[in-house]
Amino acid sequence: MTKKDIEHYKKLLNSEKEELLKEMMESDEAARDILENDMTHVNDTVDEATSTITQTLLSTMNKNNQQKIMAIEAALRRISENNFGKCITCGEMITKERLETVPWATKCIKCKQKEEKKH
Ligand SMILES: [Zn+2]
Repeated sequence: MTKKDIEHYKKLLNSEKEELLKEMMESDEAARDILENDMTHVNDTVDEATSTITQTLLSTMNKNNQQKIMAIEAALRRISENNFGKCITCGEMITKERLETVPWATKCIKCKQKEEKKH
């Protein structure tokens, strides 16, 4: 995976995260208060303050969005640790096609399917 690829997925992840935050602001008054009080940090995803805000927001959002934003945060962390795109189960690279639609994926399609069969 090239640096350019990483930048691309980072952009995807950040815009997805912004979408989620926006959606929350429209639907959740508590979240809106938090974000309005510290709006300057929201678009600055590398800023540590963002993580703090995100943490606070996590407690107010619905479970689906909660899981998604946590997955996005984890993916951004994997980017900074140079582990992005690797399957956490088998260690193989996750295909670009898959990362394009699910940039926060932690498992390759094979492991994902295996997991789903188990449930
Ligand atoms: Zn795998």
